[in-house]
Amino acid sequence: MDRDRILELDRQFVWRPYTSSEDHQTRDDLVLVGAEGARLIDADGTRYLDATSSWWTCNLGYQHPRLIAALVKQAKQLAHVAMAGATHAQAALLAHRLVELAPEGPRGERTLARVFFSDDGSTSVETALKMAFQYWAQNGRPERTRFLALPGAYHGDTLGAMSVGALAEVGRVFRPLLLGINDAPQPKTPNEWEAAFDALIAQLDDEADQIAGVVVEPLVQGAAGMRMYDASQLQRLREACDRVDTFLIADEVFTGIGRTGALWATEKAEVVPDLLCVAKGLSGGLLPFAATLATQRIFDGFRGDGSRALLHGHTFYGNPLGAAVALEVLRVVVDDAVLPQLAPKAEAIARAFERMGAIPGATDPRALGMIGAIDLGHEGYLGRTGWKVHEEAKKRGVLLRPLGDTVYVVPPLTISDADLTTLLDTVEASVRSVL
Ligand code: PMP
Repeated sequence: MDRDRILELDRQFVWRPYTSSEDHQTRDDLVLVGAEGARLIDADGTRYLDATSSWWTCNLGYQHPRLIAALVKQAKQLAHVAMAGATHAQAALLAHRLVELAPEGPRGERTLARVFFSDDGSTSVETALKMAFQYWAQNGRPERTRFLALPGAYHGDTLGAMSVGALAEVGRVFRPLLLGINDAPQPKTPNEWEAAFDALIAQLDDEADQIAGVVVEPLVQGAAGMRMYDASQLQRLREACDRVDTFLIADEVFTGIGRTGALWATEKAEVVPDLLCVAKGLSGGLLPFAATLATQRIFDGFRGDGSRALLHGHTFYGNPLGAAVALEVLRVVVDDAVLPQLAPKAEAIARAFERMGAIPGATDPRALGMIGAIDLGHEGYLGRTGWKVHEEAKKRGVLLRPLGDTVYVVPPLTISDADLTTLLDTVEASVRSVL
């Protein structure tokens, strides 16, 4: 099918995410026919370096041969089975492996012991919220019905996940449906982060009797504009949750599987959460697949008759294709020593953004592991400056997807040094040309 025909059908029948119906009709969009490594290939033959790994999922690059082979092998054997009264090797092996690799505390403690599967980041967060809520409901603290979160948080687009999110531009229209969110101003500087954690911890101390859990994106808030905070803040929050004995829920949907340089951002911060959500990079961008890890204590809170079971589970729970690919992702990360090779790439990203920070009009350059970001204005998520940089970069063969006025890169962890240099030089040239 030719490019124009695909676009025509798309414009006539598809409803795109995060795209106004007007934009959908008029924007000159990509029509992708292939991908390889860190590159996407348009039907017109243009090859683009992808700065954002397709919404932060393709941590090992596109079309990784081992992931494709694992998918094909599993598809030939058992593509799907409901895990109701049944199990299969891939789910069992993956759960075991995730527990083995779960974040370890400073004293070597590894308390995440159980794995519950779901489909995507939002459902992994929904699962964690329902686990925490039902745990307290049936273990003597039924008044613990609320969650706390950080200002600026983003935890997904389903209603429960939105209820603990606070990204005003995304949540505003749905507010009447939500449980109540933290709409304090978005922290940016270290002092503002300190104050945000002070406020969160004070609220937790005051209202502990009602709090089922505290949800955070560890070390970096992605959709909020790649906002980074110090590990010490997360450690303080861990201590506060311990003090009042409630659950710390780490949303590692973005940060998990190596994005910050360690397998988990919580591990980098030497913090072990009670519940950990992982999606995106877990299945390498091949297909929707997610997991929520829980402590043995939480799991044990669901013993008893059927009425005490976690009343939750999606049709594609533990899908064998997703589980097989996720297992292979974890194997590749170890076999190819992906994480030990990140330090020089992370340094290159940090240096490039530091340089961009000197461009007049650019502010707050920041980097953490394989994430680099910079602000080009003050209008946040709905700002247009980032989109101008997007246009410039696209002309130069790089795909950026800014968060409004924030321009960032989240490339595959496996991007080659040469591609990374091209990517960073192009971002810099595009920012210079717009500012
Ligand atoms: N949590 C975080 C931290 C995310 O970044 C996202 C997606 N950007 C989600 C949850 C939701 O994931 P999904 O889009 O797969 O539902």
